[in-house]
Amino acid sequence: MSLDHLWAGWRSAYVASVVDPVVPPSGSGTGEPACVFCDLFASQASDDERYVVHEDPLAVVVLNAFPYASGHMLVMPRRHVGELGDLDAAESAAVWETARVAVAALGAAYAPDGVNLGANLGRAAGAGIPRHVHLHVLPRWIGDTNFMTAVAATRVLPEALSDSWAKLRAAWPR
Ligand SMILES: [Zn+2]
Repeated sequence: MSLDHLWAGWRSAYVASVVDPVVPPSGSGTGEPACVFCDLFASQASDDERYVVHEDPLAVVVLNAFPYASGHMLVMPRRHVGELGDLDAAESAAVWETARVAVAALGAAYAPDGVNLGANLGRAAGAGIPRHVHLHVLPRWIGDTNFMTAVAATRVLPEALSDSWAKLRAAWPR
C-alpha cells in the first residue's frame, strides 16, 4: 500500500470534521472565522468533555474527535499559528517534546504495532484546519491498512472517545 493511501484518512473533509462536534465555532464579532482549536482551548468545558489529553502553557494535546483509530491525538501549539516556521523556538521545542511524550503515552495505553507521527501543512497537503498547525499521533496496527481498504469509508472503532481519553490520561507520564 502506498504512502498516499496510508495518509488518505487524514484528508481535508475528514480532518475538518474533527473538532466541530466538540465545540461549535464561535466566530462571534471578530469578522474572522473561528478556529476550532482556539475555541476548544478557551472552552470552559471539562477536559473529559473537550477531550484534552494534556496541556501546558505552550502545547496542547486533544483527541481527534473522529479518529482514524482509537487513541488518535492531535498535538499543537497553544498559540494560534498557521505556519510551522512561525513557531518560536520555545513553542517548537514544546510541541516536539509533547509529541514525544504523546507517542510514549500511546505506547503505554495501546501498545500499537507502530505510530504515524506527522503533519499536513496547508490545504494542498490535506490540512483540514490549516490556520492552526498541528501534528497527528496515530496508532497503527499490522493489517489495519488492509482492513480500512476493505471497509472503505466505514470507521469502526473499538471504544468510545471517553474511554480513549481516560486511557491516555492515565498513561500520560506525570
Ligand atoms: Zn487557533
